[in-house]
Amino acid sequence: MSRFWSPIVHALTPYVPGEQPRITQLVKLNTNENPYPPSPKVQAAIAAANADSLRLYPDPESTALRASIAGYYGVQAEQVFVGNGSDEVLALVFQALLQHQAPLLFPDISYSFYPVYCKLYGIDYRTVPLDDDFAIDPATYRQPCGGIIFPNPNAPTGRLLAREAIEAMLQQHPDTVVVVDEAYVDFGGDSMIPLVNQYPNLLVVQTLSKSRSLAGLRVGLAVGNAELIDGLKRVKNSFNSYPLDRLAQAGAQAAFEDEAYFQQCREQVIASREVLVAGLHALDFAVLPSAANFVFARHPAYDAAMLAARLRERAIIVRHFRQPRIDQFLRISIGTEAECQLLLAALTDIF
Ligand code: PMP
Repeated sequence: MSRFWSPIVHALTPYVPGEQPRITQLVKLNTNENPYPPSPKVQAAIAAANADSLRLYPDPESTALRASIAGYYGVQAEQVFVGNGSDEVLALVFQALLQHQAPLLFPDISYSFYPVYCKLYGIDYRTVPLDDDFAIDPATYRQPCGGIIFPNPNAPTGRLLAREAIEAMLQQHPDTVVVVDEAYVDFGGDSMIPLVNQYPNLLVVQTLSKSRSLAGLRVGLAVGNAELIDGLKRVKNSFNSYPLDRLAQAGAQAAFEDEAYFQQCREQVIASREVLVAGLHALDFAVLPSAANFVFARHPAYDAAMLAARLRERAIIVRHFRQPRIDQFLRISIGTEAECQLLLAALTDIF
């Protein structure tokens, strides 16, 4: 690494993303994408935007998209922020917490980008252990802090925190932002968005990458009090002024306007999750209760890294984290029912 960059860059431990193989015959159950394509209406909207208007710059405010999202969730357009994937939205949230006096809190087993952002931006943070059942215990967040962030359901555990517990946190920390990262909420939880007018300290982040099958389009959003959203806009326009491109704005808007397709897709994923969990139980796996489009499972007799390697030889990729406490777990994304059956057959074969 070049000596010309700062010591902070030398000390970074960058996030290692899940493998994105080129070979499409692989059964890809490693990065929690949706196994179904986006709505045909999304594809039509993208084709139309592509034909009509790509020579023109995009709307820097994503006005039509934000109006659609606001209508969908029953909030005002100025309460909605959009970014290039929720990773960008989260990056801006972390930048908005720069130089905070007290540490930011998040679970010790959680989305691995959080500590990466903190280190990059020099944000003080403290991780809070999950309880013995790998759940977030709201009581452990009763401590002075400069903010709280956690995914709900949590990643990579899939465990959901109930609304009452989140409300308790919001009430305990009225002067601190509580960010709920709802990347997976549509697969089994209730969004906290209906609470944003009641709690000015609540910021909800979502993505179109999972339940709306648009990981490749890169669209994420945040909903909260208009003042919180205004802060994100200021950061964006100071550090990074890339708006969503025209295809992303058009496609994302169409996704929010095809409710029937959205419901059908998520129901299929939930049904496949039930099939997968039953099959894993039959093979003696312990599976954490999942409200997400993945399951987190361990086998009492077989080493997780070995299983991941054996599955890989059979052209099935799942995620294994070499991290204390969870290194005997596999995170398996929910594919189509046929893909879930292929995985179960491969495991049976390995055993
Ligand atoms: N939050 C969580 C908890 C995630 O697991 C992910 C996806 N890896 C993201 C945010 C980011 O998703 P995207 O940038 O595709 O919106």
